[in-house]
Amino acid sequence: MSAQVILVVEDEMDIREGIRILLGGEGYTVLEAGSGEEALEQINEAIDLVVLDIMLPGMSGIKVCEEIRKNSTVPILFLTAKSQESDKTLGLMAGGDDYLSKPFSYAELIARVKALLRRYCVYQGKKQNLLLDDNHVLTSGRLQIALDRNDVWKDDKAIDLTEIEYKILALLMQHPHQIFSVQEIYEKAWEETYTYSANSTIMVHIRRLRTKIEDDPQNPIYIKNIWGKGYRYETGKEVY
Ligand code: CA
Repeated sequence: MSAQVILVVEDEMDIREGIRILLGGEGYTVLEAGSGEEALEQINEAIDLVVLDIMLPGMSGIKVCEEIRKNSTVPILFLTAKSQESDKTLGLMAGGDDYLSKPFSYAELIARVKALLRRYCVYQGKKQNLLLDDNHVLTSGRLQIALDRNDVWKDDKAIDLTEIEYKILALLMQHPHQIFSVQEIYEKAWEETYTYSANSTIMVHIRRLRTKIEDDPQNPIYIKNIWGKGYRYETGKEVY
């Protein structure tokens, strides 16, 4: 098995070097970028994880994350300064998966990296082998959905969804971790041209969908609202 590849984006050479030696010692292949621009040049499908400093000269870590998210679901671990609490929220909103506050111990870094890689591999492994069975049933966490008919289950119990709810869920579940704007959701589920007035309609349907699939609809773990951007499906906390 080839080593997993981690891209470390950090302008402070000492820190970058430390992380490289540390992760290299754990058997990972480590690529380095000293700026956001360099990171975007290096990013490719072979990379399994990105460690991304928020404070970079030029393009910020947040911006880099947003750019990566345009076509990749690679897990992103942000490094933030402890004093910058708001950076965490910004980072997660931009599509980051986790963050670590500086200064961090190497043990903490290794633990986060391993947790993210494990979670990502579970998902990838399922996607490739297990997720879609011969009956066109997609499994993700505790939810299952048939992709060729309106059949949905949670913990093997059938859930009754309207056609629209089913279409929304099918769209999101097939692209976990990918953010869909309300416009994309509307045009795919309703198959009509989106206008701004459709927003409240979408919200109502997503709220109803949540009451059917979430344990706690007020605190959803499957369908996440990414503020100002849209919605994305997460595979559920139990996978983490
Ligand atoms: Ca920095």
